[in-house]
Amino acid sequence: MSKGLATVSARALRQLRHDLLGRLGRPRSDPTVSPAATLCNMTTMSDPTDEVSTPPFAPGMLGPLPRNQDQELWDPAKQRMDREQRRDLQDERVKALVAKIFDTPVPLFKDKLISAGLESPQDIKGVDDLWRVPLTVKQDLRDSEAAKPPWGEYRFTNPKDAIRLGTSTGTTGEPTITVWTRKDLWIEYESGARNWWRMGQRPGMVVTHAHPAYLYGGGLSLQGAYEYFGMLSIWVPPPDTDELAEQAVRFWTRVRPDIPFMGFATGRFLEVANKLGIALEDAGLTGLKAPPGFGLGRGGMPLMTAGAECYAYVGGPCGKSPGAHIHEDWAIVQAVDPTTGKEVPEGEWGNLTVTTLDRDNGLLRYDLEEACAILREPCPCGETSIRGLWGGRFKDLLNAQGTRFQLNELQNVLMGIDAFKNPSLEYQVVRPDGGDAPLIVRVEVDSNDTAVRDSARDRGVEAIRESLGVTASIEILDRDTIPRAGYKATRVIEPE
Ligand SMILES: [Zn+2]
Repeated sequence: MSKGLATVSARALRQLRHDLLGRLGRPRSDPTVSPAATLCNMTTMSDPTDEVSTPPFAPGMLGPLPRNQDQELWDPAKQRMDREQRRDLQDERVKALVAKIFDTPVPLFKDKLISAGLESPQDIKGVDDLWRVPLTVKQDLRDSEAAKPPWGEYRFTNPKDAIRLGTSTGTTGEPTITVWTRKDLWIEYESGARNWWRMGQRPGMVVTHAHPAYLYGGGLSLQGAYEYFGMLSIWVPPPDTDELAEQAVRFWTRVRPDIPFMGFATGRFLEVANKLGIALEDAGLTGLKAPPGFGLGRGGMPLMTAGAECYAYVGGPCGKSPGAHIHEDWAIVQAVDPTTGKEVPEGEWGNLTVTTLDRDNGLLRYDLEEACAILREPCPCGETSIRGLWGGRFKDLLNAQGTRFQLNELQNVLMGIDAFKNPSLEYQVVRPDGGDAPLIVRVEVDSNDTAVRDSARDRGVEAIRESLGVTASIEILDRDTIPRAGYKATRVIEPE
């Protein structure tokens, strides 16, 4: 309970403790309250024996305690924690997670543990024993929700003890449901704050985003995290149509963001600003750049998220070493060989597998079916965590002429050609079957000049051969041929 209240200022916290302890006495042992419910940071407060009144507003009540803007890290005590101390903390939190799985119980994970011969909480002593725990994939969550609708059997709390619900986008099947308690959100918000601070963002800046909302929880999660951090966040609608994109672009000419928009929809805003004849600098859209992190050669990016359903802000890049610093006090992030369950050697690709720690609603050995590599070399920036690289979703992995590559590798090649890139890159690729046929790529070009189109096509074919070692056949399309999307566009289409 105290972790959830850590957002409150020390003074307010002392007062609150004083009030609660003074008025409530010791928490009663009530057999009608499920063990899960007692884990929730709201439970004791919703069952007072006397009236509770709200203390006056103080720093830390709706957000974190203020920081000196010059301090290097958001949470130095956690981010520079001694590695052995952090491992001890992880071991304790793994044991607590497993104990909750048996005690609550959480049948999906309990059954998995028992199926592997792990029949009591004492059988898992910490991180080193995790390899024995079978992996859980998204389909397991989906199956569980279908078998016991609507929540399935993988929740650690009564879902009604949560305060937020979100569904996945459903691109791979029936959307699954995620719920967050206040504490679960607090862990995400604190994690997001570490990321933004590391990237040089500070409270007092104006930020903007266009994440989708409503049942899809991503937009509210990002908005909430920005507000918690202390930035003024302009949440514009996803640019599903030109009219919606125009609303955003026109608003940015009134209130210009300090941090230019980044995300899946960036190209759409550039495109519509161009159509409207609005200069990019007038809408704060100049200086767009990727986060400061980088990968290791071909195909790696900093591992920044393990999905909204698992750990949205799992880590972030410092820009001094490859990959992203992982927030290890709140997660065990592993690159796993699914056939053995063990971690692959440092720097090699394995299945991104995450065990979340210290949450009300956790996940044990959740395999995101994405590629991940772990780097353990100490980083000169002073953070002591491991670093993670992300290699893309396995379902986005393409195989042409015996060569496997990620969609974003192809995208980066296309972005290198001005005629494709301006005013925004719009392309699709026909999913290759791994055979010898040329890779079919369709790209829009904003010119009717045959010479421009032919030259762009030839340069594209050459660049794909050079970078990916794949023979491509590029079809040049007129602008506005490919359907537009406000969030994640369909880039890979199935062969006809
Ligand atoms: Zn670093």
